[in-house]
Amino acid sequence: MAKKQFKAESKRLLDLMINSIYTNKEIFLRELISNASDAIDKVYFRSLTDKKLSDVKQSDLKINVIRDKENRILTIKDNGIGMTEEELEKNLGTIAQSGTLSFKQTLINDDKDNDKNKKSEETKEADDKSENKMSLIGQFGVGFYSCFMVADEVTVISKSADSEKAYKWVSSGADGYTIEEAQKEDRGTEIIIKLKKNTDDENYSKYVEEYVLENLIKKYSDYIRYPIIMNCEKKVPKPKAEGDENAKQEYDTVEEDKTINSMIPLWKKAKKDIKDEEYKNFYMQKFYDFEEPLKWIHTKVEGQYSYSTLLYIPSHVPYDYYGKEFKKGLQLYSNGVLIMEHCEDLLPDYFGFVKGLVDSEDLSLNISREILQQDKQLKVIAKNIESKIRSELENMLNTDRIAYEKLFKAFGMPLKIGAYDGFGLNKDKLKDLLLFHSSHENEIPYKEDESNNNAENKESEKKENYKSDYTTFKEYVSRMKPDQKEIYYASSESVDKIKMMPQVESVIDKGFEVLFLDESVDEFVLQMMQEYDGKKFANVSANDINLDTDEEKEALKKLNEESKDLFKFMKESLNDENIKDIRFTHRLKNHPVCLSSEGVVSVEMQKVLNAMPDQNNQNIKAQTVLEVNEKHPIAEKLKALYKEDNKEELKKYTKVLLDAAKLIEGLPIDNPTELSNLICEFMTK
Ligand code: ADP
Repeated sequence: MAKKQFKAESKRLLDLMINSIYTNKEIFLRELISNASDAIDKVYFRSLTDKKLSDVKQSDLKINVIRDKENRILTIKDNGIGMTEEELEKNLGTIAQSGTLSFKQTLINDDKDNDKNKKSEETKEADDKSENKMSLIGQFGVGFYSCFMVADEVTVISKSADSEKAYKWVSSGADGYTIEEAQKEDRGTEIIIKLKKNTDDENYSKYVEEYVLENLIKKYSDYIRYPIIMNCEKKVPKPKAEGDENAKQEYDTVEEDKTINSMIPLWKKAKKDIKDEEYKNFYMQKFYDFEEPLKWIHTKVEGQYSYSTLLYIPSHVPYDYYGKEFKKGLQLYSNGVLIMEHCEDLLPDYFGFVKGLVDSEDLSLNISREILQQDKQLKVIAKNIESKIRSELENMLNTDRIAYEKLFKAFGMPLKIGAYDGFGLNKDKLKDLLLFHSSHENEIPYKEDESNNNAENKESEKKENYKSDYTTFKEYVSRMKPDQKEIYYASSESVDKIKMMPQVESVIDKGFEVLFLDESVDEFVLQMMQEYDGKKFANVSANDINLDTDEEKEALKKLNEESKDLFKFMKESLNDENIKDIRFTHRLKNHPVCLSSEGVVSVEMQKVLNAMPDQNNQNIKAQTVLEVNEKHPIAEKLKALYKEDNKEELKKYTKVLLDAAKLIEGLPIDNPTELSNLICEFMTK
């Protein structure tokens, strides 16, 4: 029979599996059992509505793990939905069209160079990298293909619920596979694994050993809802010969089927009986993550409504998080049976990154989406989940700052958008979860970590203070000077740029702390919030910021009054409708000029709004004032030019100063050629 070739990507993945140096080969069993369990789920669901499957009884559904020690063959058998000939071809000849595909592909592409000369001494480093990759792949869930890590040959015999005939798929790896008709009485699938020969490094025979398999099933698949039955050895006493009562008791070894898994879903077990390892494994397997979660929240609620939740906070942004395909939501179970994969109504958008599940005994199995949305119970649960997540995050912020900052780096954006969205509807709920950079070097005193349930607390176990890049509003307010009324902030596209802003320097110089807003949404959030703890937010680039004493104010006012005509002339010469005013300022330390804004739209907001695709935003302009440092030599120069009536020169100076201020703010200038000509003209004078 002619061999068929695997599709290109599948072949790459297979190569990886077959030549795997990955130490965690054991995960193949969990993958196959998960597939079997999914297949049984499918047949069970269909049997609820499909008359053809009315003979499916829940109590008959099971998975068999069959050891053939003598021949070193391991078989995983299920009575699930089975596969037709086409499905065998589609599902096992190519990587399934699951959401994991693109992730797998990246790994495959990245790995191309690594495993070519795997065995040579020089590529030890590449080897390590490759091993890393493999561990990623392994944890991520590679599905069916993983069995090639331990198998020389794999045979799949399957009979679909939709077909009278059974088919056999056989492959010994990268050279392709065959499919032919086969004999099989019952619906379902059998995966028959011929184990690889033992090597010096690897004992493949252990995968037919009873205690090894039992441990693996308990470790990875304990919660599977169908019995996983294995043929186990049992010693039975041999009957003694008559009259020989004192003879040594001898035993026969017989085989007996035993159910290995407890079938209790993880979340239904008592917290104290669950190891951290189990929580982590469950998460990575269930939610296809290759990294451990940052934190988990396991609750059982009894009362008007009884339900359990098991929620996880990922430690990194999922690769598809900002894509259209990403679906937020929690899995919804009715008493251990999955009824919805992504129940969106259970999570607010700003906690959309949380993964997990809710299991309620009071929900009906066949509940529809529309009815769910009306469901009072679901609304109550959603509300509780929201406040639970919030309080857990606050707790994390207070007890494990390092982990929380990791979370914020990944998911700070949805939290900020949450504070801003809906005209700040949720701002009070979220304000204490927000972090910002600041001019203050924030040192967080070491605290004993109370929650032992996060994967990242290794670092914080160092008993020393932690220098943080971030501050909360609360921390800022606690450091405010006694006479300070406002919370100062500056915004630009990066912290480095903010630090270079002339206006920032002088505020910091006067001893005030400045929040550094380096993400485009930041300033909008602050504008929506308006104040924190009664303290208004104030942009250091805004015109109404004034840190002068009364005398200083008075002096400046006088100075501006004296130069009224000078500024009038300068302003008119610019003929720029966005420049509302020109004046002297005290707020600059060494720099000659800056642009400050008046009104609600700051210069930074103007940039953000103009960059948006919405046409309506393109004309939004900040009302700006060109401010000249009164102590800078340029001030005297301007006054002198005006006095000498050197209007032409003064015009040019004004032009250059405005463009300089615009450049500092990161704004485009109207006529760069003119500016460069002017600069050269000054230079060659
Ligand atoms: P994934 O499970 O991530 O989709 P797999 O490579 O593990 O990827 O499996 C590919 C597909 O093969 C599955 O989606 C399923 O449709 C089918 N399949 C695998 N194992 C079984 C089984 N035991 N019974 C029925 N179908 C199966």
